[in-house]
Amino acid sequence: MEQGSSTQEREWVRLRDQLRDNERIWSGFRQIEVQMIGANSFTDLLRVITQGIPDAFPGIDCVTLACVDPEYEMTRMLDTGVDAGLLPDCFVAIPRANLDTLFTRPWRTRLGPVDAAIHSLLFSNNPCAAGSVALAPLIRRGELIGILNQGSRDPKHFMPGTATDLLEHLAAVAALCIDNAINHERLKLDGLTDPLTGVSNRRFFERRLAEEIERWARQVGPLVCMLADVDFFKQVNDQHGHQVGDRVLRQIASILGQDLRGSDVLARYGGEEFVLLLPGTSAIQGATIAERLRANVELNSFVIPEGVDLDVTVSIGLACLEPGVESYGHEPAVWLFQQVDAALYEAKQTGRNRVVQALPR
Ligand code: GH3
Ligand code: MG
Ligand code: MG
Repeated sequence: MEQGSSTQEREWVRLRDQLRDNERIWSGFRQIEVQMIGANSFTDLLRVITQGIPDAFPGIDCVTLACVDPEYEMTRMLDTGVDAGLLPDCFVAIPRANLDTLFTRPWRTRLGPVDAAIHSLLFSNNPCAAGSVALAPLIRRGELIGILNQGSRDPKHFMPGTATDLLEHLAAVAALCIDNAINHERLKLDGLTDPLTGVSNRRFFERRLAEEIERWARQVGPLVCMLADVDFFKQVNDQHGHQVGDRVLRQIASILGQDLRGSDVLARYGGEEFVLLLPGTSAIQGATIAERLRANVELNSFVIPEGVDLDVTVSIGLACLEPGVESYGHEPAVWLFQQVDAALYEAKQTGRNRVVQALPR
């Protein structure tokens, strides 16, 4: 009888401890969910996921988020946000092909040890996740968009065959919040930014061109416009792939954007063409700047994943509206852009990697 009651007592203690553990786990999940839903930017959300989860759950040592990010949109949000650089190695822009190799339908959470290649892909060589991992697929609108990766030093923490409902629930909320955060940031950019390069887009340029022409018409000063087009860019794509091409475009945007004044405009005009608008800049100053930008692109090391250093150059066409000149017709903006375009065409025809300045009116 005594034996029976002590067995019963042990069972009660075990059940009580299990209930307490479950309560702790549930409370951790609720806490993370509330924080994810309340995140006010993509960076903030990434912080909740990658720092909040290890804080809330003992035994989880590191968490990363991998998402397909073909246009580098998320990467750029993290690079340019107020907290830029605070979350190194927590975000992986995973190529679609790698994601589709890791998960096949039906998409289910993977638990247990991982091989070195998957480990280095998803945990950026973070040794904390060497024991065992839980890779939860992130699904949004019926599409696999990424993985929520949790790693533990303990090889027994995530064991194959254990229940994954809570992890999948957390991943579902995370996917929803990621989608919301991205959409919210897109709205903030108000359709005026080029998602690939982060510089302004053509719509913004056209708006600013109209404003600057108005200012110019009030005789405020000269106005320089230039169009830079990457030379033989199709070959970069053809030889090294579209992703390398995209990377080159991002670097070119960053080189062209260096040293600009607050009043200057740099925009991606189209595919591999960038337009610059420099108010209060004379034709001579503009030509010097254009030549410097051309040289900066030529001298830059465009290192691609294979380790090769690509030779990339740009051709630039330039034109200037001088102050006080009445002869630009009814539409000085049209005249300006036609001149820029013709100058660029001439730069291409006469050898590329050069600056051509349209003749003054
Ligand atoms: P040229 O010196 O005469 O300018 O030659 P080009 O090869 O640069 O000119 P072309 O107009 O034939 O090719 C432009 C290429 O730019 C073709 C297109 O695939 C590529 N492109 C346009 N937009 C993007 C983009 O967003 N990403 C990538 N990777 N390539 C792009
Ligand atoms: Mg072009
Ligand atoms: Mg080109």
